[in-house]
Amino acid sequence: MATEAEITRLASDILNSKKTVALSGAGMSVESGIASFRGKGGLWEKYDPEEYGHITTLRYSPEKAWMMLREMHREINKAKPNNGHTALAEMENMGLLSSIITQNVDGLHHVAGNRQIIEFHGNLLSVVCMDCGHRIPSREISLDKIPPKCEQCQGPVKPDAVFFGEAIPVDALTKADHESKTCDLMLVIGTSAVVYPAATMPEIAKGAGAKVVEINPSETALTGVVSDYIVRGPSGEVLTAVVNKVKELKLKKQG
Ligand code: NAD
Ligand code: ZN
Repeated sequence: MATEAEITRLASDILNSKKTVALSGAGMSVESGIASFRGKGGLWEKYDPEEYGHITTLRYSPEKAWMMLREMHREINKAKPNNGHTALAEMENMGLLSSIITQNVDGLHHVAGNRQIIEFHGNLLSVVCMDCGHRIPSREISLDKIPPKCEQCQGPVKPDAVFFGEAIPVDALTKADHESKTCDLMLVIGTSAVVYPAATMPEIAKGAGAKVVEINPSETALTGVVSDYIVRGPSGEVLTAVVNKVKELKLKKQG
């Protein structure tokens, strides 16, 4: 876990920044019980995400894709925001966080109370008909028959998430690009930064002159190359400590 000095350094950077943006990845939700792709344990030891989560698999071997999706749904439905999600919601409420660009599909930033969220890879909370575009909440579909069918036209439905082999929705890409170009501090939380184009956001921020700080128990492809420094530890613990330090420093400044 990070030292007191590292927590203070990050808290000061947040207080001194004019616009802070967060980029979150699967590591953010590990403390909520959702396994990341590259970590140990969980779903991904059984399913290779790039195979089971590929759009071609969903189209041509839907039973295979839905086998994984069914388990993801189960995991996500049980999960609750952790201290890291709550800390980011507090930061937004304090006016210290402009937006979160998230690669996660679990909707936990919404549940925690953040409002400015760019869901770069969509989410698993709703499904959309591949034929007519009709959209309904995921929990309303029956998974007894695979692929699940649209209630309106009987076409096959697909989760509202971006699959491997699919493009990022233009709206999310444009917003994320704008936020990355205009921030002066980017917090890169719980992402191994290898899935593109999400992984370009810290590079864009850096290129535009922002400071880039990672929060992660382990080093990533960005460490020592793109990021200015890394605060090591689980994001729930680190972000709680950072937000507490921000409050303490603010009080000191006022008093
Ligand atoms: P990843 O699995 O490649 O990397 C996870 C990162 O989180 C690693 O760097 C790891 O060191 C770090 N980590 C592990 N535990 C942590 C903790 N407690 N706190 C902070 N960091 C921790 O994940 P990725 O970079 O987000 O990329 C994979 C893709 O996985 C994304 O596109 C995302 O859509 C998808 N995904 C999402 C979920 C979810 O919605 N919760 C879960 C699994 C995968
Ligand atoms: Zn339909």
